[in-house]
Amino acid sequence: MKYYSIKKLHQLLLTKKITPSRIIKDAFTNLAQHQILNATVTELAAEVAILAKKLDDLVVPKDNYLFALPYFAKDNFATKGIKTTASSKILENFVPNYESTVTNILKEHHSILLGKSALDELGMGGHGLYALTGDVLNPWDLTRITGGSSSGSAVLVAAGVVPFALGTDTGDSVRKPAGYCGIVGFKPTYGLISRYGVFPYAPSLDTVGYFTRTVEDSAIVFDYLAQEDHQDATSLKSKEYGYFKNLSSSAAKKQKFAYLKNAHLILGDEIRGQFEQLYDKLKAVEISITAIDFPEDLLKALMSVYMVISFAEAVSSNSMLDGINFGTRVEGDTYQEVMMNSRTNGFGHVVKRRYVIGSYALTKDNQTLLFLKAKRVRRLIVDALAAVFAEYDILLLPAASTIAPKISTIKDKILTEDELENYVDDLLVLGNLMGNPSLTIPLAFLEKMPIGINVNAAPFADQKVFNASLLIEEIVGIKNKVAPQGGKNHG
Ligand code: GLN
Repeated sequence: MKYYSIKKLHQLLLTKKITPSRIIKDAFTNLAQHQILNATVTELAAEVAILAKKLDDLVVPKDNYLFALPYFAKDNFATKGIKTTASSKILENFVPNYESTVTNILKEHHSILLGKSALDELGMGGHGLYALTGDVLNPWDLTRITGGSSSGSAVLVAAGVVPFALGTDTGDSVRKPAGYCGIVGFKPTYGLISRYGVFPYAPSLDTVGYFTRTVEDSAIVFDYLAQEDHQDATSLKSKEYGYFKNLSSSAAKKQKFAYLKNAHLILGDEIRGQFEQLYDKLKAVEISITAIDFPEDLLKALMSVYMVISFAEAVSSNSMLDGINFGTRVEGDTYQEVMMNSRTNGFGHVVKRRYVIGSYALTKDNQTLLFLKAKRVRRLIVDALAAVFAEYDILLLPAASTIAPKISTIKDKILTEDELENYVDDLLVLGNLMGNPSLTIPLAFLEKMPIGINVNAAPFADQKVFNASLLIEEIVGIKNKVAPQGGKNHG
């Protein structure tokens, strides 16, 4: 089985070395060999075979990289006529009668949706252990987590089933699993990709993102998906165009890089060593890279701020999942009872816990104390980050503090005091609080497991993120890497 990038697949289609039907057949064969990973909610094999046959007869447009591109969408993108569950029991039977803007753009360009991928229920979670369809396993080692919440999409790209898959990122849900699975995960500037038809979790933080296995492919996709959309009130016009055309690692060499000194000090020795090696290599090609201080109290506040804001927004934006407006109904004597029964029956324990905390932060007495305070601290964090971007073009962060943890160590885990103090695993939330572009790429392998580095720039500087990531990809030399067949851990 060959694992092609989007760019390569397009060349093969143009030169008639491969047909859409062949692409689809290979993808489903590969998927069949990876069922153990438990990455999908819905697979559309029959429908897709008919569509691919139609595409076989069309002339491949030279400038359409999306033509016959096989992909999976996280199951929180509404797909017309195709079940969309958000991996939640309450939406188990929900078939939308509308299409998300993003899947619509892909459809218009003749990309082929192979199915819907599993997520932590409604996007709430970071482990891939809270989907209605069960645990999603890491293709590098089946005993380890994939990260979440866009778990299935990350796994399908890492295992080589598809070169591209859609996710969403509210706190780190694309960039964290990308790191754990050894692939490229991009969250663009807030507003540049439409959220119309994407089920909300916390709208002030929610961003459409996606996975690929190369930085080039990530830039290619962005050229199509970054479109202003009047159906999304928070949609913004991109200030730059031609992200792929303008992709240049030599442009990145003129940029000023920074990394957080304090975060590095609390990283484990082995992982820190990998980052330091990269910094040395950057310095060797005369790139300016500086260790900077970031207010420690703000870093320690990241998770609390994220939780209060996102849980409160989740309660509000998911209030229509009540068995009356949306969702599976469980009967009761009054409409209040119907709502209570439907919600009690329909949500898993993580989601319920978040709604309780979110509601608590929104009660009249607590709003000023908790919700408004969290928003003020968010402002302080964003201001501090803006000060970094006023001086530096690129901020590098660890994508995670460790390789993907063992599933057995995560389930029902209660954090220790030390772990609560360690904010390295919270750092990616910075990108959602500010809404700036942020991309994770593989940095190295430790114990035969991938670790990722996360590349950030100021809002709207998405091109800078791509350029710096390309440079790092070239230096590191990990590109288009696929996890071993069947998920055996043999690196
Ligand atoms: N891990 C974060 C959480 O648990 C991120 C979720 C997300 O980005 N959707 O909420």
